Order: sequence, then C-alpha cells, then structure tokens
Amino acid sequence: MTDPGNGTLPEAPRISLTFDDGPDPVWTPRVLEALQGAEAQATFFVVAPQVRRFPHLISDVLRAGHGVEFHCTQHVRHTERTHGEVEADTRAGLRTLEMLGVYPHFWRPPWGVLAPFTAEIADEFGLEIVLWTEGTRDWRGDPAPEMLERVGPRLQSGSVVLMHDGIGPGARRSGCGETVALVRGLVERIRSLGCEPGLLTTTLGAGFTVGAPSVDEASSEQERLVRESEQKARTGAGRPAFLERGGCP
Ligand SMILES: [Zn+2]
Repeated sequence: MTDPGNGTLPEAPRISLTFDDGPDPVWTPRVLEALQGAEAQATFFVVAPQVRRFPHLISDVLRAGHGVEFHCTQHVRHTERTHGEVEADTRAGLRTLEMLGVYPHFWRPPWGVLAPFTAEIADEFGLEIVLWTEGTRDWRGDPAPEMLERVGPRLQSGSVVLMHDGIGPGARRSGCGETVALVRGLVERIRSLGCEPGLLTTTLGAGFTVGAPSVDEASSEQERLVRESEQKARTGAGRPAFLERGGCP
C-alpha cells in the first residue's frame, strides 16, 4: 500500500461482518473472542430485552471497538404489525440503548422484512436500514467450512455478511459454535481479497442492501422476492452505488 503523501495510508476496501439477535451470555463473548483473535471489527444488531438483561455485554462489545446497532424489541415481522406498533417497538428499543449511551445509526428489522411504512419509521428515528448481501444461514446449524465455501467466493468490497450471536426465533440450532468457528476463516478470506473486515459506515451503508429472511417459515411470496433481490445483487442490477466503488483487487 502506498502513502498518498498526506501522511495517512489509504483504507483497505471494507467488508462488514454483522451479528444479529444478541447479546447472548454464552455466544456473544465467544464471538468477541474470535473477532479479537482475528483482529477484526464487526457490527452487532441487538435485541432490546437482551440488552436490558445483559448490559455488560454491550459494554464489552463497545470496549472492543465494535459497533452496536438496532435490531428490534420484539422479534416480529413488520408486515405482521401495524405502523403504530412498529413505531412503539422502535421507540422502546432505542430508549433501552440510550440508557447505555448507545445511539444507533443503522437498523436491521427482524428477518430483513420491511413493511411499506418501515422506511418512514426509519426516517422518523434517524435510522438507516441495512440488510445484508451475504446470508451465511448459520441459524440452520450448517458446519463452518460449508458456510465459508458458500459465502467466501461471493465476497467483494462492500459485502455485508449476516451471522447470529444469539438463538433467535426460528433458529434450527441450539448453539452458535459454528458461527464462532466461521469468523477466522471469513476474516482470512476477506484479507486475501485485499479487503478489511470493518464497521458499517454511513458511506458503506448508503442505500438498502438486499437480504434474505433467516427462517424458512417465510411465505413463498417472500421467498420469491428474496430470490429476485439476491439475483439482482449478483448481477449488479439494483446494486447500491457503494458496491461499485473500490473493488477488491
Ligand atoms: Zn433477528
């Protein structure tokens, strides 16, 4: 890497590792340990009641230099709630985080399912919706090497990888051991691309990223939409502008 002359090295293109459904007293510390071992930063989308039960884990996450962002209070699809209910859910969750001095910028709604009013609520609370470009589907309990084989070849600058440091509704596994095991391999793959695992940033998160719901109970219509949007992401159609910048070598 060359010095551009102003004394600062250019930043490596970024890929974001993200973890949903925590904090969890067993798995969040182990994920943190794996990230520390790999010297990588990540972003945690947290569930408010878990934050209230385990506030010390939020401190641990922040102290290690990771990001804490908002997932939900109740883990329900926005399409199954009214505008007013989702608004109240969001207000309550943000208040919980505020009590710990955390003011999220990003919001990943449960299962990545957006209702017609979700964007309006995001605006109201100054949140930017971020889904993901690569779902590991770790909630199924797939072995880490299998997940790496599936996701690794698809990684590129701007990728947002979805994992879980908690057992959310619909998960088909009893622990997050394979997610913990996946961290090192993912980080190695990211660095082999000349990228760096880093926090989500405003620049990186500009615009929606497409995603897939993390449980199979999604309706077939939902699955069709998800397949379409994943296809679009793969082909570049509808890809957020940030994905076009600073491609990994
Ligand atoms: Zn979730």
